Amino acid sequence: RAKEQGRNNFEFYTPVLNQRATRRIGIERELRHAIELNQLELFYQPQISLENGQIVAAEALIRWRHPQRGLLGPSEFIGIAEESGLIVPIGQWVVETACTQTMLWHQAGHSALTIAVNVSPAEIRRGNVPEQIRAALDRSGLKPQNFEVEITESMAMDSAESFIDTLRTLKNVGVMIAIDDFGTGYSNLSYLKRFPIDTIKIDQTFIRDIVTDTDDAVIVRAIIAMAHQLKLDVVAEGVETEAQATFLRRNQIDLVQGFLFSAAIDANAFGQLLDRRKSGQPQFRIFPTAP
Ligand code: C2E
Ligand code: MG
Ligand code: MG
Ligand code: MG
Repeated sequence: RAKEQGRNNFEFYTPVLNQRATRRIGIERELRHAIELNQLELFYQPQISLENGQIVAAEALIRWRHPQRGLLGPSEFIGIAEESGLIVPIGQWVVETACTQTMLWHQAGHSALTIAVNVSPAEIRRGNVPEQIRAALDRSGLKPQNFEVEITESMAMDSAESFIDTLRTLKNVGVMIAIDDFGTGYSNLSYLKRFPIDTIKIDQTFIRDIVTDTDDAVIVRAIIAMAHQLKLDVVAEGVETEAQATFLRRNQIDLVQGFLFSAAIDANAFGQLLDRRKSGQPQFRIFPTAP
């Protein structure tokens, strides 16, 4: 019986794997033309100060408007882009588009807005990210201090000399550096001292249960305190409830990002969010430190 099941499983998995491989190859082939066909799009998610309810920064998050498959998120194609090397031209497009768009918002009166752009390890290994960014800043006129590179913690722990060199070169360009998904990398934290970083983004898995799980609450408080001692800014990712925002505000979080405020939205919708301030209102509600 077991033998029979085993054989069935074997026969079942082979076509599934083939299907998956075929889909992957299809996606890679289509992704090759996505830029020239104008199918890639940046969405933007606000990072907000709870002190004054204002949008301080936007994180650029890539989407692919696929003619048959619909609007695809990065989990459906970034891995393929990394393995195929397509991440280099895609990353270049992301940096260019983010700079150009942010400059338009600056010119529309939101001149303090910072743009945060995700850069993946494969991009840093295969391309010349600092030079791409420097060129895009030059072309757009955006100031480097209004541009932040988000790199994941797993990458930061890779202390290869070439990686640290890249970070130093980025700092020479003048941009900000954020550690994304902080807390997920089993890290020894020594890189926080060695690397020239500006911001820590606490991963959403720690934020999810801060109100009910005392361990998570303790960890998040400790991360905020440590970051502030090191003169780093702290952003909380994945803030979905008022209770989480209240907790974070009372514990001196610098910025919050999450569905409670806004999901990632297209450039037009983000521009409208920014323009709420023109009526003299905060863009989002202000959270008091005490009830
Ligand atoms: P990330 O940089 O950690 O981005 C945060 C992800 O969490 C985004 O997913 C965002 O839409 C989602 N998110 C935001 N607020 C909430 C919330 O309150 N609850 C929950 N459950 N999720 C929330 P998205 O857009 O699917 O991006 C996934 C990942 O793809 C990003 O994680 C980033 O690592 C990568 N990525 C996105 N855009 C780019 C890009 O242009 N280049 C590269 N290399 N990677 C990108
Ligand atoms: Mg990010
Ligand atoms: Mg993250
Ligand atoms: Mg993530």
